[in-house]
Amino acid sequence: MNKPADKQVSLRRDLSDPLPIPDAGIDKAIEIMRSGRLFRYGEFSGGASEVALLERDFAALLGRRYAAAFNSCGSAIFVALKCVGIQPGDSVLVNGFTLAPVPGAIEHAGAKPVFVECADECRIDLQDLESKAAGGARVLLMSHMRGHLADMDAVVAICERAGIVLVEDCAHTLGARWNGRLSGTFGSISCFSLQSFKHINAGEGGVLVTDDDDIAAQAILYSGSYMLYAQNGARPDLEVFERYKRDIPNLSLRMHELTAAVARPQLDLLASRVRQWARNYDLLARLLDEINEVQVAQRLRGEDYVGSSIQFRILSLAPGQICNVLDACGKRGVDIKWFGRNEAQGFTSTWRDWRYVCDPQDLSQTTRMLERLCDMRIPIDLDREEAGIIAQIISEEIAAHSA
Ligand SMILES: *Cc1c(COP(=O)(O)O)cnc(C)c1O
Repeated sequence: MNKPADKQVSLRRDLSDPLPIPDAGIDKAIEIMRSGRLFRYGEFSGGASEVALLERDFAALLGRRYAAAFNSCGSAIFVALKCVGIQPGDSVLVNGFTLAPVPGAIEHAGAKPVFVECADECRIDLQDLESKAAGGARVLLMSHMRGHLADMDAVVAICERAGIVLVEDCAHTLGARWNGRLSGTFGSISCFSLQSFKHINAGEGGVLVTDDDDIAAQAILYSGSYMLYAQNGARPDLEVFERYKRDIPNLSLRMHELTAAVARPQLDLLASRVRQWARNYDLLARLLDEINEVQVAQRLRGEDYVGSSIQFRILSLAPGQICNVLDACGKRGVDIKWFGRNEAQGFTSTWRDWRYVCDPQDLSQTTRMLERLCDMRIPIDLDREEAGIIAQIISEEIAAHSA
């Protein structure tokens, strides 16, 4: 039975609160606005732009040679596909469980997504990957969806055997590691997001990293560098650009100076954010695992994850009951997203909602997994008491709706 509403605890905070901007970023943004220099390239003046400095710092953070800044991660992924030579009509392997801008980037490049099944733990299914890798795709666009890293040694081995280029979508894995090695250092190209709900909050923004001279020069030219690419912050030698500068279109996907200004001071905070999120995640995962019907997506031993969100499945309840549980949790301040709704809401669209992908594909395993999959953001400053209240509310509502 439901307790009377006045006896119920509620969570008194918003789980979707974004990360605040450090004072250094605010000051820099104001300084830039006062100067009017909002565009990353200057025609005459020599000083490095904030975007160029962000590129330099980002490449150093990842330990990769080159970084190119974009207006979004979706743009960076689109350009990554262009740089590895994806042509209209080509097939691109991609996780069946990913975020809408990922198939969007494939569509933007005129290519066809070939979805790979997702296992219960939100990771790509390696067996399905292995069999689909033999189907003629030249690229695997590997989305570490919601920060779940697959066995990257196995993924790299499958790609190498099949002669497939690996592009990593690291929107949720900035700072995460597989067996001690940073996510974003496995792919020929890796793309990161600075959108508000990722690990660096600049509102919008994307960064592409690579060690390859030719890819880096092409990416910078595609981003829309005019003939000012010498001002980029982490670029190959100027002679590399000579090979491409007349053949690559300017797609005007540049990053704004204000974006870089608010993002750059956050790079220094990343390590401590990662530790704090891991603590919050582990606490919440322990509490949720104690609830009978709840199964938190399991992590692999080699994973050092950034726990900025948590995924769990509610077992044994029918979809209608799950819906009622989550609606009731929402009324008590615990906002939980669910991938099983008939009508996708917010960020939860799934492959079935992407009707522009015309090829019929069978993703029954992914669909079964998504039917029960819940997803909750974890604020960086979540405390023990709040974590306890969240678990209590979920537990009470499951009990109230399973009868
Ligand atoms: C957010 C996100 C993106 C896209 O990032 P934008 O910067 O918003 O374009 C891509 N992939 C995943 C998995 C994401 O979560």
